[in-house]
Amino acid sequence: MLHVDLHCHSSVSDGLLEPAALVRRAAANGVQVLALTDHDDTAGLAEAREAAAEAGIRLVDGVEVSITWEDMTLHMVGLGICPTQPELAQGLAAIRAGRWGRAQRMSAALARLGIDGAQEGTARQARGASIIGRTHFARFLLERGITPDMQSAFDRYLARGKPAYVEHRWAELAEAVGWIRAAGGVAVLAHPGRYRVSSAMRKRLFDQFVAVGGEAVEVVSGAHGRNQQRDFARVARHYGLLASVASDFHGPGESARDVGSMPGLPDGLTPVWERFV
Ligand code: AMP
Ligand code: MN
Ligand code: MN
Ligand code: MN
Repeated sequence: MLHVDLHCHSSVSDGLLEPAALVRRAAANGVQVLALTDHDDTAGLAEAREAAAEAGIRLVDGVEVSITWEDMTLHMVGLGICPTQPELAQGLAAIRAGRWGRAQRMSAALARLGIDGAQEGTARQARGASIIGRTHFARFLLERGITPDMQSAFDRYLARGKPAYVEHRWAELAEAVGWIRAAGGVAVLAHPGRYRVSSAMRKRLFDQFVAVGGEAVEVVSGAHGRNQQRDFARVARHYGLLASVASDFHGPGESARDVGSMPGLPDGLTPVWERFV
């Protein structure tokens, strides 16, 4: 089986490594097929493609789109997309634009808690990035010594229901899948094990995802334990979805799983990368 990793982040979004450094790390870890999937942006793909050619590995053009479904945030990875396709490019640009206002509201919420300077601090964290997100806020809180690690920054301030969390509407499920398909890509439901849903809601989610043209699901994910991997393998077989392998690597020392460190797919699944290799 090919050594693949179809989900990771560079400093274009909330990863720590620049695209070329990320690609070199993946190649050093033995990855043969890599997808760069920055949040809501494709600006790192050109640099990544060049680095992949140099390293002799295959790069799949990707993106991770932020979605609001019912009242939850979901993530959808698009793989094999054409980054300049207008519907996709415009859709992503609109999401990125919304992120700046959200970041201002988050900074204001922190200021009300007596934590000043988040605006400047996160802008510094996100230097070079084209989006600003909660990971940058978590790094800011850590750098300031307000929380001892990133996880507690989420647990105490940034997770839903916590004081610096700001409700925000992202793209619609159907529209995001539409952009990915218009750009020639495959829509992959990212880390389904991360969504806290009842089994009825989970069925509704997969039914709708398939109905609007979703074709794949992350079965092996850095966010999944063994049981979730088994559960979503079953879901993939049930719906006839292609299966993906995804570290969701953000940076050395920050992510539980290194880029290229994931095991292969369980038996009886069709790998999504068969579309690209
Ligand atoms: P955003 O899209 O700005 O809401 O940020 C979402 C990102 O925050 C995810 O892609 C992760 O990188 C990170 N994140 C979300 N929840 C957690 C958590 N509990 N612990 C660590 N990182 C998290
Ligand atoms: Mn992230
Ligand atoms: Mn995600
Ligand atoms: Mn991700």
